[in-house]
Amino acid sequence: MFGRVEGVVLAAMLLVAAVVGGAMWWVSGPGAPTPEVAESALTDAPDGLAGLSVSADSASGDRARARTPSPERRAALEPAPSPTVSPSEPALPLAGRVVVLDPGHQLGNSRFPAEVNATVDAGGFTKACNTTGTATAGGYPEATFTWEVAVELRALLESAGAQVVMTRSSNSADRWGPCIDERGRIGNPGGPGPAADLELSLHGDGNLAAGAHGFHVIAPESRAGWTDDIAAPSLALAQSLRDGLVGVGVAVSTYLGVDGIDVRGDLGTLNLADKPTVMVELGNMRDPGDAALMTSASGRRTYAEGLLAGVTAWLG
Ligand SMILES: [Zn+2]
Repeated sequence: MFGRVEGVVLAAMLLVAAVVGGAMWWVSGPGAPTPEVAESALTDAPDGLAGLSVSADSASGDRARARTPSPERRAALEPAPSPTVSPSEPALPLAGRVVVLDPGHQLGNSRFPAEVNATVDAGGFTKACNTTGTATAGGYPEATFTWEVAVELRALLESAGAQVVMTRSSNSADRWGPCIDERGRIGNPGGPGPAADLELSLHGDGNLAAGAHGFHVIAPESRAGWTDDIAAPSLALAQSLRDGLVGVGVAVSTYLGVDGIDVRGDLGTLNLADKPTVMVELGNMRDPGDAALMTSASGRRTYAEGLLAGVTAWLG
């Protein structure tokens, strides 16, 4: 027989057992992280605070690397405000690199003849500050072409991790310059801005010879006291850019240079540079075929991709 009182007592005992058992499972269950573990990761580390300050300071050098906290401590100290790339993420190919892009000329140069024709140092001799640049037969200006390719290339370089410095910040009919000497000096070691790994001066040519088309890259001639220290790496950079442009299908010049490479000592931008620097004449704006490529967004994208490939290969 099972009486009413006994039934109530048994039900109460079963309820207590169920509550205690459930609570024990919750405390010891496999999926229940205990707060003691996380706290011990912090309190058991004698240099926990030092570890935090080291991980926040990427410029601390060898001492910082020697005291890099363990993965467990790092996890406990999240979020780590370190700007360094985590070991699990591959570094961008151009991370830490600085590239100067010099879009040739300026759209307003023709409206400022006195300023543009004033002479400046071009590397031991004087030359006009700048020129107006050329244009396609249809009137697409070289200044606009070089600006649009530079903007396209800047985006690609920055996506690859590089810092890009432009020698002009606009393409404006109301502005002129900068002069060639300033364009060459930007990014030089010891200058006001970041020291650059290289500079590309972007141009389009204006040759009227029938059938003259294709690109050529101009490297600085070795001139004692001026470019003798950058001539060799600049020539290697020119060759890498040549290969990059050929790789995306741009035609090599039929009328200047040898296999897409020319060497000159008369260009102020190259003479005043103190880091590997080249000038790229991306095509002949007076040639209908080159002009079609230069005036199209897809064509300018192709030039930028070829230049990116050349820069990336050269920087290794
Ligand atoms: Zn030009």
